[in-house]
Amino acid sequence: FEKSVSATKSVPSSAKKTLSSDSVINFARGDPTMYESYWKRLGERCTVVISGNDLMSYFSDAEKVCWFLMPELDHAIRRLHRVVGNAIADDDRFIVVGNGSTQLFQALLYALSSPNEPEPISVVAAVPFYSSYPEETEFLCSGLYKWAGDAYSFDKDGPYIEVVTSPNNPDGAIREAVVNREGGKLIHDLAYYWPQYTPITSRADYDVMLFTLSKATGHAGSRIGWAIVKDKEITTKMVKFIELSSIGVSKESQLRAAKILGVISDDCQNSGPNREENFFEYGQRLMSERWEKLREVVKRNGVFSLPKYPQDYCNFIGKYTDSNPAFAWLKSKDGVNCDNLLREHKLVTRCGTNFGVGSKYTRISMLSPDEEFNLFLERLSAIQGPPMERL
Ligand code: PMP
Repeated sequence: FEKSVSATKSVPSSAKKTLSSDSVINFARGDPTMYESYWKRLGERCTVVISGNDLMSYFSDAEKVCWFLMPELDHAIRRLHRVVGNAIADDDRFIVVGNGSTQLFQALLYALSSPNEPEPISVVAAVPFYSSYPEETEFLCSGLYKWAGDAYSFDKDGPYIEVVTSPNNPDGAIREAVVNREGGKLIHDLAYYWPQYTPITSRADYDVMLFTLSKATGHAGSRIGWAIVKDKEITTKMVKFIELSSIGVSKESQLRAAKILGVISDDCQNSGPNREENFFEYGQRLMSERWEKLREVVKRNGVFSLPKYPQDYCNFIGKYTDSNPAFAWLKSKDGVNCDNLLREHKLVTRCGTNFGVGSKYTRISMLSPDEEFNLFLERLSAIQGPPMERL
């Protein structure tokens, strides 16, 4: 979860509200409410009906290593990865479902560390990194693992865990591991490796891959994430962690996720004459329209810059596409505190210091509803270059 900002607690981005020119708008969180209008359009197709006597047992499939994973969700996840072509999730891989990929990240810290080591294993990620990694790693002051900061400057011998986020949160970059030393264990967080955010260039096949419904389809409130894991022992330890922290994952949520993923796969595979735009095509179009508008505004006012991303061939869309990350990683050209500057214009963003870099950077969610996004562009256009006293 990305911390809420107290100044805007009264304006949760998902609340039904009318925005006025005075409203402070929160872009600091990555709440994917932009997708609500798509799912509304699908009407009853994703509705799941659950009776009073349904889903009562703790167990889903007692024979399986991940005994709380519902077979319906297991099937829907593997099918969707096959259809999209973004990851290998064949039957020889284990799937672990979690309460969001947040719980799975913590399960992995436990699974990849060992109580027999003389000191806690270092956990690193290249800057700028997702701000929750250090928080989650340090929170319990574990004796098993400890946050060791930026992977680029990590030079300690011995075992370590490197988190590789690709496309990266906050800057949208496509990434590879940077430490590359013996004893390294990798967690690939592929939360944004979906066609709406980036060209799908190959089927990812790493030892441990994390995905989340939150960013794939926008259903963050269902709290469903999944890990695709090659090794049985690591899977067993992850399952143990989830067993001890929550004895599994809500079956209602799993069924809902299975339904939604199934509908997406059906639509992606529909090539008939009445074929409609599928979810990823819709998302890709919307995100690319938003990015085009944002780049125009940023170019016109000359105060900020945005990263540039190379085009690549997307195997799913079937043509060259741009990267359209879920966040805009804005940098002020004059080195002023970007977050403060935007706050003066009633835009709350997440300052670069949260991601291990300086305050001339800030992160802005690109996943807000249309009305908020348009107000964001309007307010950004009004920023005319910083007065001297801010420098
Ligand atoms: N990893 C990354 C890179 C994320 O951006 C997020 C959500 N902001 C998560 C994990 C956590 O997602 P979830 O909602 O599944 O806990």
